[in-house]
Amino acid sequence: MPQTLAAAVLRTHCANILKAAGSTPAEAQQVADNLVLANLSGHDSHGVGMLPRYVDAIAEGGLTPNADVKVNIDIGTMMSLDGQHGFGQVVGVQAMELGIARAKQHGSCIFTLASAHHLGRIGHFAEMATAQGLVSMHFVNVLSRPVVAPWGGGDGRFGTNPCCIGIPLAGAEPFLLDFATSRVAQGKMRVAHNKGVRVPDGYLIDENGAPTNEPGVVVVPQGNGLFGALMTFGEHKGYGMAMACELLGGALTGGGTWHRPADTARTVLNGMLTVLIDPSKLGTQATFEQEATAFVDWLRQSPPGAGYEHVQIAGEPERAARVAREVEGIWLDDATWSEIVASGAKVGVAVA
Ligand code: NAD
Repeated sequence: MPQTLAAAVLRTHCANILKAAGSTPAEAQQVADNLVLANLSGHDSHGVGMLPRYVDAIAEGGLTPNADVKVNIDIGTMMSLDGQHGFGQVVGVQAMELGIARAKQHGSCIFTLASAHHLGRIGHFAEMATAQGLVSMHFVNVLSRPVVAPWGGGDGRFGTNPCCIGIPLAGAEPFLLDFATSRVAQGKMRVAHNKGVRVPDGYLIDENGAPTNEPGVVVVPQGNGLFGALMTFGEHKGYGMAMACELLGGALTGGGTWHRPADTARTVLNGMLTVLIDPSKLGTQATFEQEATAFVDWLRQSPPGAGYEHVQIAGEPERAARVAREVEGIWLDDATWSEIVASGAKVGVAVA
């Protein structure tokens, strides 16, 4: 049955399953908090629905509980880091803590993070940086089933490669742009398929490379045993951005790019290039603050377009969802809840 659960209850269930799967209590809590925060933020595709996959990835050997980030190269303003297949929610935060300290010391820091297991919502890392007054940019690739087609191509060749830019705004919440370069998240297609609804034009191609509105083409193998694929956002431009994320997040980090047929592994590895900038070290802090605020105010004065209440700034939808879902609880569809219960059973935890 579908469930609506309070965030606190969901955190406890997730942490219990993760502890039984091998995480220390502290790691289990950190990962559970991160997943539930993604649900609260409105991004169910990166919330607790990922937990069954994590439990399977541990069993497969692709996800190593209790691993720490490893510093391979450190030249002050540049670091090469290895996630050692640890939980992205943990090694990603460790990497950001190192990078933020360096950016505050030197004015900027560029770091690569290779071989982190699924980093979840990338905006989480940009929020850490903007909270410290830093600009934060992230380019990420995904080593998992290749679900997104290159522009002009007829099958999936890479992942949903997210890109994220966080910019602090004086006296206000930050600009927090955080998006997959696919037209829509793979998880949202699973939800649509489970509900039996069709999706708009331009989202998908089928297993033969033809446009389709059936979300099932990327959820279950089709007649010929193959999957369809998601399209990138923004046609050839989104494709270019997805490719930049693969080259920067995969090749430059050393974590690797995707160039092999799909397999059935449950492990999801992310590579991430991060650029951190401290505006106060550029001598433009006062102008930056004034000009950024003036621009945001200017945007907000735009009259609402047809069908819209007002102009929003990236980051606002997630913050509004957090306020609402803290009160209303988090709704989980039947399939997601059943998978969580089943993954608990795999590690001897009864979830009810
Ligand atoms: P999305 O399509 O909902 O876009 C989200 C972005 O658009 C946010 O920055 C949001 O604030 C902004 N936005 C939404 N509506 C807006 C409006 N009306 N006006 C202004 N801005 C608006 O999100 P998505 O592309 O489905 O990505 C969801 C999440 O999935 C992200 O957090 C991303 O990091 C994550 N992700 C992670 C991986 C991974 O492998 N770790 C892969 C893909 C995506």
